[in-house]
Amino acid sequence: MIQTQLYIDGQWQPPIDQGTRAIVSPADESVIAQAAEATRADARLAIAAARRAFDGPWRQTTIRDRARLLNKIAELIDRDADKLAHLESLNTGKTLTESRTDMGDIAATFRYFAGLVASESGAVNEAPHHVISRTLREPVGVCGLITPWNYPLLQAAWKIAPALGAGNTVVIKPSNLTPLTTHHFTKLVAELDLPPGVFNLVTGGAEVGAELAESLDVDLVSFTGGAFAGESIMKAATGNFKRIGLELGGKNPNIVFADADLDAAVDYALNAAFFHAGQVCSAGSRLMVEDSIYDAFIERLAERLPRIVIGNGFHGETQMGPVQSAQQHEKILGMVQAGIAEGARLVHGGKRPAGDVFKQGYWLEPTLLADVTAEMKIAKEEIFGPVITAERFRCEAEVLRAANDTPYGLAAAVWTRDLDKANRMSRALRFGTVWVNDYHPYFPEAPWGGYKASGIGRELARIGLDEYTELKHSYINLAPKAMGWFGA
Ligand code: NAD
Repeated sequence: MIQTQLYIDGQWQPPIDQGTRAIVSPADESVIAQAAEATRADARLAIAAARRAFDGPWRQTTIRDRARLLNKIAELIDRDADKLAHLESLNTGKTLTESRTDMGDIAATFRYFAGLVASESGAVNEAPHHVISRTLREPVGVCGLITPWNYPLLQAAWKIAPALGAGNTVVIKPSNLTPLTTHHFTKLVAELDLPPGVFNLVTGGAEVGAELAESLDVDLVSFTGGAFAGESIMKAATGNFKRIGLELGGKNPNIVFADADLDAAVDYALNAAFFHAGQVCSAGSRLMVEDSIYDAFIERLAERLPRIVIGNGFHGETQMGPVQSAQQHEKILGMVQAGIAEGARLVHGGKRPAGDVFKQGYWLEPTLLADVTAEMKIAKEEIFGPVITAERFRCEAEVLRAANDTPYGLAAAVWTRDLDKANRMSRALRFGTVWVNDYHPYFPEAPWGGYKASGIGRELARIGLDEYTELKHSYINLAPKAMGWFGA
């Protein structure tokens, strides 16, 4: 049985009150680990250690030191990729293929930020000859990093790599449902020769996250999760006006025009919605199809859905695993019922799959609700499970209005062969990412984040590093002379 501890000030230790939490496999509800469950008191110790480390020798590191550190972490991730992928699938239920892809992306993220950090140089500004004026980037300070359960280590990497690369110290708090890969990652960091307190792990629930958001000793909080917690973090951060980054939920339209390549559009509509059982912030769960092809499109999806192989993520043939928790399972089934009650037509799914292997665990059939209208709750709220809601539209203006009419603005996709229409739509959709004739790709070089209620700030790309820095104007007068003011 895996047992985890906290990592504070360079030491592995149990929580002060010895708290533990059973970690459960979403595939069969068996207990797979006992994780340390910290309280605010442990978080305070970690924050104090991070503060001391930031105010101490860590500030003297060079960009070369930190680029080397990030590259070394990438090497260790590659070394332990199989172990990490196994833990991620065990804890989240996602297929091993998806977890392996995550580990590759995580190593790539560390390498990308290593390169970016190494290229940092500041700027010399135009100024009088007796003045040296420079624009410098400096670390923000102590960073509290709070991550969700759907992409535990990937989301952590998007924060840890730029935070450490920019010279900050870190306290990370993964979701207490899925702490196992962040715990193993911390073991990798512990192999390195970092000063105590530079990297701290505190596993626990909302109260630990709240402590990070409230603490006057934390300079920046970066959070990925739901809107409810995001709002409370934003309010808590006002105590010292700390910097905040919020990556929140989405209600992401996948818009198919009649002139699209329909074979590709059908294929990607399934991938957009059922990858990781739909538990993706950018999942294309809101399918919008042009009137003239709507019925045929729904029919083609209906033919494919029963063929999706549901099963344990460790079995090679599995295409879709369970959802992560009993709470999610219940919530998703509730949303499907609410949709049917509002008048949506259940085409497929909406229940636990049949068979003995699916009696234990949080299993759901891939679900298609057709004839949804923009006013329905299921067209507006994030479902975060394997559910497609399908709407019909008549023209570009109508679909644009409906797609933008949501509080969220994370990601959208458009399917068409008409490049002019593709360009108009990509510009008019108010979302942080707009894909045309594709779904899901993201990479470290491109920014990630949401408009409106999908968040504040961006991760990845250069801006994802800049978010972890303060900008300083350094002005040095090399030849000061008395000015003769004030009665000289
Ligand atoms: P959640 O908001 O319940 O929890 C996220 C993290 O915040 C967890 O570590 C949790 O323990 C902590 N937390 C909860 N309440 C808190 C509080 N009051 N103060 C501080 N910390 C608190 O989210 P979740 O259910 O783990 O994740 C699913 C959500 O995350 C979905 O809405 C999804 O769209 C979103 N998400 C967004 C992105 C993105 O890039 N925009 C990526 C992944 C997930």
